[in-house]
Amino acid sequence: MTAEAAARVGVEVRMPNALRVLVAVVVGAATVAVVESLRQAVGRLPDHAWPLLVLLTLAVAAHLLPLRVRFATHQVLHLWDEITLVLGLGLIPLPWLVMVTWLGGLAALAASRNGVVKSLYNASSATLGTLVAGAVFYSLDGRYGAAAPQVIPLVAASIVFSLFDDVVVSAAVAGSRRLRLVAVLRDGFFVHHVMCLTNGAVALGFLFVAQAQPAALLSVPLILVALHWVQATGLRVSKERDAWQQLDKATRALNQLNRRSVVETAIISGCELFRSDAVEVLLEQDGAQRLVSGTISGVSPYASDNVRPRRVVTRPLEASDVRIGELRLCFAGAVRLSERESWALSTFSHGLTAALLNAQLYEEMQEHAALKAHEAEHDPLTGLANRTVLTERGEQMVADATKAHRVAALLLVDLDHFKQVNDTLGHEAGDQLLREVAHRLTGGVRTSDVVVRLGGDEFALLLPDLATVEDAATIAGNVLVALAEPMSIDGLELPIEASIGVACAPADAGTVRDLLRCADMAMYQAKGAPLSVRRYRRQDELVNVDRLTMVSELHAALDQDQLVLHFQPKIDLNSGRAVGAEALARWRRPNHGLVSASDFVPVLEQSSMVHGFALHVLDQALSAAATWGAGPQAPTVAVNLSARNLLDRNLPGDVATALDRHHFPPARLILEITETVMMSELDVVDDVLGALRQLGVQLSVDDFGTGFSSLTFLSRVHVDEVKIDRSFVSAMLVSPGDAAIVRAVLELGRNFGLRVVAEGVEVRDQQEHLSELGCESAQGFYLAPPMAAADVAQLFAPEPVPAATRTRRDGRIPSTLAR
Ligand code: C2E
Ligand code: CA
Ligand code: CA
Repeated sequence: MTAEAAARVGVEVRMPNALRVLVAVVVGAATVAVVESLRQAVGRLPDHAWPLLVLLTLAVAAHLLPLRVRFATHQVLHLWDEITLVLGLGLIPLPWLVMVTWLGGLAALAASRNGVVKSLYNASSATLGTLVAGAVFYSLDGRYGAAAPQVIPLVAASIVFSLFDDVVVSAAVAGSRRLRLVAVLRDGFFVHHVMCLTNGAVALGFLFVAQAQPAALLSVPLILVALHWVQATGLRVSKERDAWQQLDKATRALNQLNRRSVVETAIISGCELFRSDAVEVLLEQDGAQRLVSGTISGVSPYASDNVRPRRVVTRPLEASDVRIGELRLCFAGAVRLSERESWALSTFSHGLTAALLNAQLYEEMQEHAALKAHEAEHDPLTGLANRTVLTERGEQMVADATKAHRVAALLLVDLDHFKQVNDTLGHEAGDQLLREVAHRLTGGVRTSDVVVRLGGDEFALLLPDLATVEDAATIAGNVLVALAEPMSIDGLELPIEASIGVACAPADAGTVRDLLRCADMAMYQAKGAPLSVRRYRRQDELVNVDRLTMVSELHAALDQDQLVLHFQPKIDLNSGRAVGAEALARWRRPNHGLVSASDFVPVLEQSSMVHGFALHVLDQALSAAATWGAGPQAPTVAVNLSARNLLDRNLPGDVATALDRHHFPPARLILEITETVMMSELDVVDDVLGALRQLGVQLSVDDFGTGFSSLTFLSRVHVDEVKIDRSFVSAMLVSPGDAAIVRAVLELGRNFGLRVVAEGVEVRDQQEHLSELGCESAQGFYLAPPMAAADVAQLFAPEPVPAATRTRRDGRIPSTLAR
């Protein structure tokens, strides 16, 4: 008896094919056995009818009074089959016993507790088991109706029966739940077979009693009911102890550090604990919902399964009124949880809630830590790695490259006009530009390369795996090209010019620190010529030191009048006459001779001397120009201003004071400013420019066309003159693009009523071409080079001066005047 008749046959919505075959084979074989038994039984009636009746009653009662243990949605029925078997083998012929077993099963079918297919399968299994056990019994010389019970054959038969039945029924359970047979057999194996043995032993006792004192058999029903009660209670207690142990284990297993594992564990444990067909966990966070579902064999969404839940038992996942989701047990069939299971489910969902909250907290802490680590290593504006990363990780990369006989190159990229953009277009535009630069730099490198923002407008690229030093130069060139592509900032198209210093390991230095120092020196060399790349050279070390000493020397230079002005005449191309001159600073530097403006003005502009320098130049220029004549036709003097001068609200006042001091008519002073300054939306620049105009001085846009070409400012700020940058003029004759720009600027000048000055005329053809295009005035070495104040004064001196020394017919100033 107590065969675990846990077959879930007939309950699955769709039975797997293998299971159908199994059911067909078992039921078919049992049918054949019953028919054959019937044929044999007809001729062999037992000696007495009462054993037959007792056994039949037992078989039927066993099915109507089963021990129930729920397994999934299906009942596990511990039947009393062993008692019927042992008594039957001892009392009646085998064919009759087979039929009694069969009929008992059919009684269960009539009671129809378990569904037709399932009852039929269980009955067939018990019938076949009886047949097999009978075979064992008779092969061990067992006989029915013997004077004394044959203990060994009966015990053997009983064991074989319970094993056979367990295997057949478990096969069906495994088939329907898609579990491994061994796993199903193992579940409750010990308890099950101890009960089977006990039942067999009790039946053996009955046999002794029946042979000694048949009347005592009347006590059999009483004993069986008692036995039933003891077993049911024992089973329930053991099952409950197991269940609580499992619950304890499952809730402890939930203690994982990430929510995904928590949910996956909950799904598998939930299926095991509550024998549900599937478990769903609904997670809610910040209004969003995420559903994870799965079965005992793993997390897989329902959609891929054929099982549609017929009953869903839910529990909220909440802690102190905060709801974080819902736990759902899904059953393929109708099911009612026992009180114990209900409590267990509540406990489980509390455990799950705690585990989820725990994991969430842990994940948040991890994220926070990762963010902190990221912040410590990255520049917040561009997202690029920072200097720390370069020095820490770079050191190893450089060492590895050297060991592998490869070249590691450090490219130091410095933007040329960033400061102007920042000063004039505002920080927002500056930030946008830096982000775009970062984007372009990362776009052009390999994943093994490191791109770093060192600060301000300085970036570094560490290329740790190059074949040769020349590769570094090629890549640097590509970087310049990528940056030069105009980028749209605040609606303006700005190309970005940069200078790159390159240093290579192991040739130039062996550590990142030294590479940085070398690249930095090379970069300052590159700065001299825009859009340039320079490789580190040992002699640069001296130049760099020079740059540092230059700043302190310039302070002295201002005080000691070492800064002098040269003047470059501006020629009217129609008349060939000099109509004015541009003041260009020169530095009589001790031990260096006369230093050109482009070699020290950039250094000055980076220093606090920028305002003092401007006023110094203005003062000298006005003092010189005051001697050039008077009246409306008197020559103009042009003074260059740095971008930063226009951020100084005192400038207009200082200019007015200087004009007064020299009694100089404002209209004869031209202030040259660069485009970028004028494009800015900064109020201070507008105010300063407005105030200068109020004074009556002229404004000129210097280096027009370079860098930041935008014409919108021409309608906003009123200027008198634009100077076409010399790069266009020098390329004009060979490059149609440059020629087109020159023509366009001239056209623009006509439309806006501006004077257009062409800069950098170096050859006669350029001058002629400009005249043809209608350009009125020009400057350049060919027309007149910058010259000392005394020389330019002589040029403008009123008559009598021999015509030959003033201007020549071709508009050129004799070079004898130039110094
Ligand atoms: P810039 O305002 O464009 O001045 C013209 C520069 O071009 C001068 O260089 C001049 O010597 C040079 N130049 C003139 N004709 C030709 C030519 O035909 N071919 C070539 N290749 N170059 C020619 P310099 O004096 O070295 O000045 C360089 C820059 O330094 C100036 O460019 C100007 O932006 C700045 N600078 C000069 N003096 C001052 C000053 O007193 N104050 C400020 N703030 N900047 C100054
Ligand atoms: Ca100028
Ligand atoms: Ca210029």
